[in-house]
Amino acid sequence: MLKTAPDLSISGFQTDTMLGKNPIRPPMQGDGLALDVQDIFLTVQGEGPRAGEAAVFVRLGGCNLACDFCDTEFESFTTRPLDVVITRVEELSKQAPEKPAALVVITGGEPLRQPIERLCETLVAKGFTVQIETNGTIYRTLPPQVEWVCSPKNSGKGYKPIRLDVLSRTNAIKFIVSSHHTLYREVAEVGQSGNRIPVYIQPMDEHDSQKNAENVAYARTLAQTKGYHLSLQMHKIMGMP
Ligand code: SF4
Repeated sequence: MLKTAPDLSISGFQTDTMLGKNPIRPPMQGDGLALDVQDIFLTVQGEGPRAGEAAVFVRLGGCNLACDFCDTEFESFTTRPLDVVITRVEELSKQAPEKPAALVVITGGEPLRQPIERLCETLVAKGFTVQIETNGTIYRTLPPQVEWVCSPKNSGKGYKPIRLDVLSRTNAIKFIVSSHHTLYREVAEVGQSGNRIPVYIQPMDEHDSQKNAENVAYARTLAQTKGYHLSLQMHKIMGMP
């Protein structure tokens, strides 16, 4: 069974989101035999280069940034043994309606904050396609098969170039854009051009239908004018988590 859509309040504003109020947590050391896990669930990858594919999401707890628009809850995590995480991924993969989900998306919070090397190695060895979604500020040596989607965040003083080790592994860069936030109006050069990395433009979800419609129109214009890909958070349109 697919997990049902998240519970929304009457205003349509999801109440269990971070919105920049999360503690900033530094990178963790360790052998990766246990991880802080927020949730593991079956859904559809709604964003970026694999949008539309059935996927098991492993959402890890904690983030090293605190973005004021962040609409994800990642602070009510539990420490789980790695083998329990792997078993759950395999169980959920088999529950995909059409055929087992071949894609595992490791996200957060910031997934590279935790020692996920063993998690990635095991999933790759089991034949999964592994994609990580990162803010691009932390690097770890992961198997070469792992696909990296980097979504840089504006520090308040603009975007910094993505660190070179992360950039060398990045398969796609995703920018969140809003016609209302000056910090998120433009697509910055963070290293994508010299490395020919495809850029995806995703309208910010401001939990306001009027603003969201304006953001979609803005993102569409930006994508079509500049030759970027448009990413529309397909899972939300489909009512999935
Ligand atoms: S980097 Fe991502 S997960 Fe972390 S606070 Fe910002 S938007 Fe949320």
